[in-house]
Amino acid sequence: MVPDDAFDSDTAFFLKSLGFPELKIHHAFNHFDFVRSSRRILVIGPMGSGKTEYSSRVWRDSRVALTKSAVVADQTTNSGADRRRVFFIRSALDRSRFPDYPDDALAYRGGYERLGEAIAHIEDSFGLEEAMRRNPQTGTWIIDEASFYDERLAYVVLRESQQRGLIFIFPTLILNFRKSIFNASARLLLDLATDVFPLTAYCEHSDCMTDSFYTYRYYQVDGRECPALYFDPLIIVGGDARREDSREPNYCTRCDLHHYLPGKEYTFLVLKPLGAAAAQGDLQGLREELHALHADLSASQLQRSFAEHYNSGRPSDEINNNALRVACIAERALLFLFVEENLVSESQMQQLAGELDLDRDFLVRRLRDARRACRLDLSIDSAVLRD
Ligand SMILES: [Zn+2]
Repeated sequence: MVPDDAFDSDTAFFLKSLGFPELKIHHAFNHFDFVRSSRRILVIGPMGSGKTEYSSRVWRDSRVALTKSAVVADQTTNSGADRRRVFFIRSALDRSRFPDYPDDALAYRGGYERLGEAIAHIEDSFGLEEAMRRNPQTGTWIIDEASFYDERLAYVVLRESQQRGLIFIFPTLILNFRKSIFNASARLLLDLATDVFPLTAYCEHSDCMTDSFYTYRYYQVDGRECPALYFDPLIIVGGDARREDSREPNYCTRCDLHHYLPGKEYTFLVLKPLGAAAAQGDLQGLREELHALHADLSASQLQRSFAEHYNSGRPSDEINNNALRVACIAERALLFLFVEENLVSESQMQQLAGELDLDRDFLVRRLRDARRACRLDLSIDSAVLRD
């Protein structure tokens, strides 16, 4: 790590703890350098940290840089691609996220830029290659939320930046609500980055304005803030609207102190071992715990674990205990073992969902979000296939 000054040493330490290699840490407010080629720049931070604003600033800088003479063009061009030409890539899934703006708009808090032809919506890394084929003179590619694409994208990017000197900028979330690296694609982006701009946002807790880095997932139930349990499904596809619904999460940015993540001990001490026994063919322990979670929470090991951990009179105890107010806790536990840990088989999933009369609609939605096929019920299964 080569921090610009002492102020960045905390950030440097934090990034190192995430497994960043030796990188140069920048301040975010310099004008963009279109001269240095072959860079892969991560712009990481939680919601509200200004990642899109960063992108729009690169775009505005490019408008100025493009007015310069052939002398500058010579410095910013390799293999026919001029890095002052900026192109913005967004996920095809994001089309519905900005209904109030024109299709070519790069919208950020407080305004938007119109990019004309220099924006495309792609599905995957093949879509990126297609966009690059169509725009061979473009030297700077901004890929919004690159962690959400397939891992192949990282290698496409590496090849193009090494062979043609292209610059890639990745404004992206890097941590999930569990404070761990988002997924395998995020891990690869970290591995291949040459530069990083870490951005922070104010903690959104009303008592706090600490500079914060974490994404907090919570549910709103009867007006109460209910933190997501550690084993809550990792991927839940949804919009940005605030929800009063214990099936659909809300997100905000929180500091370490106000980022509640209850149930982590339970997940590793109890839930995973029950899944491991199921993987060996012994379903009884898991069946009993899921039954308790579904029908009588007070008999569950989860409730006992909470009583142990969140009962010492700390102000955070009440809010951590609120995590038990959400619906479908048994469904969430089963999904964790099936989707993320591969400890429960598809047939065990079917069997338990049937025996315990679990909420099939919830299970099917979350399986769809995770792009996992599972036959739970013929009528619902065909609904999944239609989507
Ligand atoms: Zn805080």
